[in-house]
Amino acid sequence: MKPEKKNARIGLRSPNLRRTIWIYFAIFIASVLVMMWMLFVASLGVNYKAMKAAQFNGAAEQIRKGLSEGMLTSQTLDELAYNSDMCVLIQNRYGDMVYTFDMMAGKCLIHNTNTFALLGYRQNAIDSPNKVYYAEIPNRRFNVTTMLYVTTIGNPDDPEGFLFLNTSLEPLESSERIIKTQVLLIGILLLILGIGISYILATLIEAPIKRIIKSAEILGKGDYNVKFDGKGYAETEILAETLEYTAGEIAKVDTLKRDLIANVSHDLRTPLTMIKAYAEMVRDLSGDNPKKRNEHINVIIEESDRLSGLVNDLLDLSKLESGASELKLKEFDLCEHIVNIMGRYKLLAENNGYKFYVSLPRKFVIKADIIKIDQVLYNLINNAVNYTGEGKEVYICLIPNGSTARLEITDTGRGIKEEDMKTIFDRYYRTEKAKREVIGSGLGLSIVKEVMKLHGYDYGVMSEVGVGSTFWIEVKCSPPHD
Ligand code: ADP
Repeated sequence: MKPEKKNARIGLRSPNLRRTIWIYFAIFIASVLVMMWMLFVASLGVNYKAMKAAQFNGAAEQIRKGLSEGMLTSQTLDELAYNSDMCVLIQNRYGDMVYTFDMMAGKCLIHNTNTFALLGYRQNAIDSPNKVYYAEIPNRRFNVTTMLYVTTIGNPDDPEGFLFLNTSLEPLESSERIIKTQVLLIGILLLILGIGISYILATLIEAPIKRIIKSAEILGKGDYNVKFDGKGYAETEILAETLEYTAGEIAKVDTLKRDLIANVSHDLRTPLTMIKAYAEMVRDLSGDNPKKRNEHINVIIEESDRLSGLVNDLLDLSKLESGASELKLKEFDLCEHIVNIMGRYKLLAENNGYKFYVSLPRKFVIKADIIKIDQVLYNLINNAVNYTGEGKEVYICLIPNGSTARLEITDTGRGIKEEDMKTIFDRYYRTEKAKREVIGSGLGLSIVKEVMKLHGYDYGVMSEVGVGSTFWIEVKCSPPHD
């Protein structure tokens, strides 16, 4: 796939990293600005009034305390009124003025209100549940809005007097304008900072990803030795390592595939050449000589058998590997079955001097797919026969161990090197690749592996170079017992 196409696809599906980071930064900046706006601008009036009310409460508390302790002097009251920037009026229960202070130079509402209005405010304080009356009252004469606070003094149900506090509410427009400008300024600053940080962040994060993409494109072109550099972050480093591992695995599969094709075509060509050559010989030379003709025809039949054996193995393995092969489980005595199979090797023993040593318990019943177990046994015994070398000895032992039994097939051949033992069960693996042997399809052990996996049986090999090999499988008895 061309890189341009890939990029176009990325563009269509989701925004790139740079844009995503910027979007999140923009959301963050917008949230900060909204919060600042709500905190400073929108709630300015509410906060200001709440602050004034708290001031009233504090002053009223102080006055009440001073009165009850008999410590209240007109000087302390003056100081309090001056510091809190408010007018104070204290009346006794009959409405006579006890104390007054005008901070607002005559603009005080309580000093410009008639007695009836004051009486009304007093009544409002008595009627309210907590004996406090708040009101925002415009003082039209001086064009200011004032805040009035009236509360009772002494016993709330039979007040000894009343405290009036009054202050002017400053118009907030000018403060609001200043704060708005500040919030705007902070917003612009945040915006510039956000663009800068998101640019740096995206560049830093993108760098290892871009390097990995470049290497992945090289990998896509078939260079499996490509190095992935994810330095910068733990995640990108792990990604790079994983991709490098994957590249290695793909390389292995690729080599295996190439080997498989090479081996299969080689193995198909050899018998085909033989068949053709012998068929030509029959046609041209031995047609009239029955002895020779039969010999040649036998070679043709043997080679055809080899061909069909190879094709069958390939089909079996692909079925097993694709999972299309189902097990037809049946209970049978493995010992009896091995004895039957060994009967078929009698001819080989008699004609070619092979010696088979079989050691079996009396009986060991397993539940397995008899045809597939046969494939395993034949493959292992044939291999032992093929690779046992000059000694021509093959040992077959079934060793019961509780609910399992281990079947060992041992030969006295050349053995298998340590490094080959790990890969020997892989498809088409041959220990000596250059020296292709005519025997076997090269698929036997991979068929053994797949059949064992399907049955859930363990399998393996032990070997010593120059001494021999032991291939083993571990079967479970049926019905299972401890
Ligand atoms: P093949 O048809 O080549 O025997 P297998 O899958 O059965 O294919 O075996 C794979 C390879 O493992 C063989 O080519 C051989 O190199 C090695 N091998 C298998 N069995 C033995 C054995 N008993 N002794 C030594 N080498 C063996």
